[in-house]
Amino acid sequence: MEQETLDKINALTRREFKAEELYTFPVVLCGNEIDRDFERFSDDALEQMAPLFIGKTIISDHDMKAENQVARLYDVQVISDPEALTKDGRPYKYLKGFAYTVYTEKNADLITEIDAGIKKEVSVSCASARRICSVCGASVLDAPCEHQRGQMYDGKLCHYIIDGVTDAYELSFTPVPAQPDAGVTKSYHEKGGNTMEQDFTPITTKADFDTAVQEAVNAAVAAKAAEFEGFISPEEHQQALDALAAEQKSALRKAYCEKAALMTGLPDTLASRLTGDTEEDILKDAQMLSAATKSGFATPHFDASGTPMDGVEKAFFEKNPDLKK
Ligand SMILES: [Zn+2]
Repeated sequence: MEQETLDKINALTRREFKAEELYTFPVVLCGNEIDRDFERFSDDALEQMAPLFIGKTIISDHDMKAENQVARLYDVQVISDPEALTKDGRPYKYLKGFAYTVYTEKNADLITEIDAGIKKEVSVSCASARRICSVCGASVLDAPCEHQRGQMYDGKLCHYIIDGVTDAYELSFTPVPAQPDAGVTKSYHEKGGNTMEQDFTPITTKADFDTAVQEAVNAAVAAKAAEFEGFISPEEHQQALDALAAEQKSALRKAYCEKAALMTGLPDTLASRLTGDTEEDILKDAQMLSAATKSGFATPHFDASGTPMDGVEKAFFEKNPDLKK
């Protein structure tokens, strides 16, 4: 172990450690590739994170209990890979961390697992102030734009650029499958946050909440505007309402007539001939007509050779043979 490495480690320890007491290993923290959430760190964010992660612990299983704090970062560097480009053609950069732990009985399994390549993926937690839309440059936490992450605009993939990293928290060894870019998974906090690892899906910050509310309000306003499209004046709006009311009134009257015809045993074909504006008047009219024609309609299903009124008249004159047609 180089003296420089030993010095860096001993700057973080309570007592002076000897090289033979220490086990060191590298980890990849995160990079500037667009991830599965259609987000990426800006190159500046990587530079901001590097010093913030020095001295931070690597824990097992996202549990901050002291016994799970198994290693610590003594150096973090931004590495440029001249051979590699990101999906959208930028030079690929990533954060490489150098960690140490102490050879103890308790750490023996961990060291074996790291040596065997079993423990090699870490997730990072950090706080960031901004998310920038890659299409229009809007700071979407402050003022949401119309672009959707994951959609193409003029042949370019819209994604959010995480920028303005203000704090770095712990790293976790994680069993979660690797991200496509750097072989790590990432998570981070928005504006403050605590030391718990978190993902993006749940709304846990005021900024995220405000964004969600604004999106909901925008959608509701757009829906209302679409609903009233065409009703360009209050007069036209009123006409539409009146037409609707007339339609409902007509439908209601028709229902009253059918009901009255059914109650009085009149054939369906006579229902439309009933007069009256109220349910009561219509029923009275139906009763009168029914009484007048009772003998002529043994069944409610009228099968007259002529029109319904012909049938009524026929029945009427059959009952009143002395009257002339
Ligand atoms: Zn945008």
